[in-house]
Amino acid sequence: MSTAHVGVLALQGDTREHLAALREAGAEASTVRRVRELEAVDALVIPGGESTAMSHLLRELDLLEPLRSRLADGMPAYGSCAGMILLASEILDAGSAGREATPLKGIDMTVRRNAFGRQVDSFEDDITFGGVDGPVHAVFIRAPWVERVGPEVEVLAEAAGHIVAVRQGNRLATAFHPEMTGDRRIHKLFVSMLSE
Ligand code: GLN
Repeated sequence: MSTAHVGVLALQGDTREHLAALREAGAEASTVRRVRELEAVDALVIPGGESTAMSHLLRELDLLEPLRSRLADGMPAYGSCAGMILLASEILDAGSAGREATPLKGIDMTVRRNAFGRQVDSFEDDITFGGVDGPVHAVFIRAPWVERVGPEVEVLAEAAGHIVAVRQGNRLATAFHPEMTGDRRIHKLFVSMLSE
């Protein structure tokens, strides 16, 4: 493939840092807020932010079904934090009735929203990450964890005894925010997955 064009879902959350990280990792990157922008990209990053607000906006902007159908057609995707929650097939503690985070079913996993947040709102940890050399400094902010993975899901990292990074084929998800640290190894991993 020539340079991959990666979209960053830009409804809410930390879009700018992902755009910068993707460009530094060698991809073309632009924001996605409309169906035609979603149709134009090869892959999508769903950033951190608030998964319930993003779900609401996806419905309001008529992006929910187009996004689900691109994922069902095999579009590569990477979700960090709120993005991990949205990529799940099942969400626990999804939010109050009528305002729930909606699973996009991109990865066969059950994710618990705000899971670490019940213990401590945010924390940082140096973690081992499968396929990446050396420790990764991970920033967790009201982060989810993964409670169940399907047979095709590879666990890439754990923190405090919980799964915090997974891969299923061309889908990647982290409970933490690599875009915030200046370390581009996770974005490089995702960009390299696009040419596999
Ligand atoms: N707690 C947020 C949610 O439920 C995720 C936090 C984050 O993305 N930093 O979506």
